[in-house]
Parts: sequence; structure tokens; C-alpha cells
Amino acid sequence: MTDPHQLLVRNPATEETVALVPAAGPQDVDAAVARAARVQPAWAALAPADRARLLRRFADTVDAHLEELARLEVREAGHTVGNARWEAGNARDLLLYAAGGAERLLGKQIPVLGGWNVTFQEPLGVIGVIAPWNFPMPIAAWGSFPALAAGNAVVLKPAETTPLTALRLAELGLEAGLPEHLFQVLPGYGDTAGRALVDHPDIAKIVFTGSTRTGREVMERCARLVKPVTLELGGKSPSIVFADADLKAALDPLSFLDNAGQDCCARTRILVQDTVLDEARDVLADALAAVVVGDPADEKTQMGPLISAPQLERVRSYVPADAPALRGSAPDGPGYWFPPTVLTGERPDSAAAREEIFGPVAVLLPFTDEQDAIRLANDTPYGLSGSVWTRDVGRALRVSQGVRAGNLSVNSHSSVRYWTPFGGFKQSGLGRELGPDALTAFTETKNVFISTEGPAQ
Ligand code: NDP
Repeated sequence: MTDPHQLLVRNPATEETVALVPAAGPQDVDAAVARAARVQPAWAALAPADRARLLRRFADTVDAHLEELARLEVREAGHTVGNARWEAGNARDLLLYAAGGAERLLGKQIPVLGGWNVTFQEPLGVIGVIAPWNFPMPIAAWGSFPALAAGNAVVLKPAETTPLTALRLAELGLEAGLPEHLFQVLPGYGDTAGRALVDHPDIAKIVFTGSTRTGREVMERCARLVKPVTLELGGKSPSIVFADADLKAALDPLSFLDNAGQDCCARTRILVQDTVLDEARDVLADALAAVVVGDPADEKTQMGPLISAPQLERVRSYVPADAPALRGSAPDGPGYWFPPTVLTGERPDSAAAREEIFGPVAVLLPFTDEQDAIRLANDTPYGLSGSVWTRDVGRALRVSQGVRAGNLSVNSHSSVRYWTPFGGFKQSGLGRELGPDALTAFTETKNVFISTEGPAQ
């Protein structure tokens, strides 16, 4: 039974209780939004260089607590310690990048007959950020820090399973000298605190990351208030491997089981040219057997547990015991463990091949040629990420143009950099985070016409 008044944070690797955290209700959301609205105008009125200076100090404070934040992420989310360090570093780096953005948030001067037009990028006000559990720290940072840099206040609701790193980030912000109530973290449940944030008339914009199902509901609720929304949703990303590719690099299983596969960019559809299918199977079988699955706090571990018992059940439901598959191994428990798995007998239209499983499970599907690869890659409601593996540059470019997804990589599986835009096509989302335009997404454009006509003679 869940307690509506508190969140139980468990270590997914051991099932031990890490913390009990009070859960915010609608009244807490009201109070937090009111406090944020009171402090935001003074923050927006600061000189951009002063906002930038405070955000850089915040980055330094995060840096001084990097290991502590990483270890907290390991305990509450089960991430491997190496990944968790990257995540804390990503939050710090984004603060520095966003701080620079505050100083470069410019308007335009547009010549018109009889005067000047000047545009201003004005902050929206109070931003509501709703974060998921799969990357609690980076996703909290992506929604919040560019918004702060642009002169907004932020109220952030982390996922009910992973509130601790976000709470710590807010404390570090205060320690660094951010104004009180400017960046508030309100742990709570999605159907109470989350909905209250979305429905609040003084929340100027919602940034939501999570499932497509909940994202759709958030968008519908925002529509009632004509409230802007950024949605980062699910994925079912392809790895398109041509016969001329470096098969070992292309079939690196971390491409789909990093973070135990709980990654919206995970390359969970491995599309391999049919002429090298048998070879690919052998490469994958060897690679899966070599993956180190276990204690996420151990430096050598490559894959940790799933986040929770319900998530484990969900993943299991896609993988019947007798399904044809290549399998690695995983501990029995306690903890929410599932072995790295590549399903080899799926059809492109099966549930496992089309739905976001969010576990260390991929499907292996053959294709015949370039057109067939593009068709298969696009045969999904999602369009977030993907990789193209070939030594033929022309083909890499043609396939990249053909695949409808927001973040593709050629001869690489990497997806996210804080200085490049990130977001999805189709049902993977709406809008972009990160990159050079990240701050602009948290502003309204105001145009002012200044007449140069003199007074009538
Ligand atoms: P959700 O999309 O439901 O949750 C994401 C965030 O939204 C959480 O903070 C959640 O709170 C909050 N939330 C839930 N319901 C509402 C609501 N009605 N209004 C406002 N906020 C709400 O994902 P789940 O955690 O339920 O995960 C289910 C599946 O979603 C996963 O198996 C995976 O497939 C997918 N998913 C995809 C992610 C991605 O990055 N693409 C991230 C997370 C999940 P609370 O924690 O209390 O539920």
C-alpha cells in the first residue's frame, strides 16, 4: 500500500529503505508556486551577468559535492557509479553552459518604416518541471537550469521513487547563494502533486519527461489553459547495422542496456543487414555473456538493477521464458534484476518490437537493403534516437536523412550532449531541450515598435 503522505525510497539493488520523504499535496504545490512567483521578478531584474555569476557558483558547489551526489544516485536509482558520476557532472556542466546563455540571451532590432522594431526575450515566470526516475539528476537539470538562467523560477516534481538527488541539488543551490524559493523541489505523487502543478494557473510552462501515456494527459491538461509544454517521451530507437560496419562496435550491448535499458534513447531495435545476421548473432552472444551485472556501487559493474518491482514485472511480461533469445546473466535477488536479453524470434509488428519496454531487452531484426532499413527504422510511433553503422559516408547521410528521429548518430551510440538540441519526432515528444536555444524556450518574445516620426508640425 502506498502512503499518500510520504514516499518510500528504496535501494533497487537491495530493496532496503533509503529514506522516507514527505509527499507534497495540492496545497503544498499552491504554496510553493506562490513563493516562487514572489521571488521571480527580482531574479529576472538582475543583470544577466549577476544571474550568471550565481549559477556558476551553483556549478562550483555541485562540483564540490559530485561524489556525494553520484553515490546518492547509486542508492536511490541503482545506477552504476560510473554513470552516476557522469550524471552529476552533466548537471554541473549544464549550469555553466546555461550561465553563459544568460549573458547571450539577445533580442533583435528589425528595421521598419517610420521607426525601429526591437524584440525582447522575457522570462515566462514560474516553470513546472516534472521529472522521471530513469535519469533523476540530469533530467531535473535539463528542465530547470536553462529556465533559471533565462530569469524564471522553477518548481520541480521529481519521480516518487527518486526524489533525493533533486532535493540535494536544491539545497546546494541555496548554499551557493541562489535566492530562497527560486528553485524548489517538491517530492510527491504524479496523480496529486504532478497534476496540481500542471493545472496551476500561475505555472507558465510545463516541462515533462516520462511515458507517452502520461505526456499525452499532461498536454491535454495544459491545452485547457493554453499553457506551453515541452514533452520528452518514449523511444524505441533503432541501431541500423550494415554489412560493412565494425560489427563489434555496432553491437555493443551497452547501446541498449546502459542504465539497465531504462533509457529513452536505448537502441532496443537492432536492425542488421541479412548477409551478416549469423555473424551478428555470434558477436552479440559473446558480448552479452561478458556484461558485468551486479552491485552498482562497484566500479567494475556495467549494469545494475531495474528501478522497482513493478518495472521488473513489466519487463518480464515482454519476455516469456521460452522466447528465442540470447541471454546474459543477472543476480537472483534481493533487488530488481533482469538479465541482458536479445530476442531473436520477434516479428517487426510484435509488442516487444514496437513498445517501449524500458529494460535490458532488445530485438534483433534483419533487413535487406537501404530502403528496407529506413522503412523498418520508421515503422514505430516513436522517433527519438538511433544509430547508423556503415563505412559508406553517402549511405550514412542518406539513411540519416531518411530516419524520422530527433537525435541520430553515425558509427556511434551516443545521443546526448548538453550543448546540442535534444528531443523527439512523432510520439517521442514536442519541443527541444538543451543546446543553444535552450534558454529561448523559457521566454516569450516581445516586440516593441519605436516611432522615429517627430511630433506633427
Ligand atoms: P510516468 O510518465 O507516469 O512518470 C513520469 C513523471 O510524471 C513522474 O514524476 C510521475 O510521478 C509523473 N506523473 C505521473 N502521472 C502524472 C500525471 N497524471 N500528471 C503529472 N505528472 C504525472 O512514468 P512511469 O514512472 O509510470 O513509468 C512507466 C513507463 O513509462 C516506463 O516503463 C517507461 O516505459 C516509460 N518512461 C519513459 C521515460 C522516458 O524518459 N522516455 C521516463 C520514465 C518512464 P510518479 O513518479 O509519482 O509516478
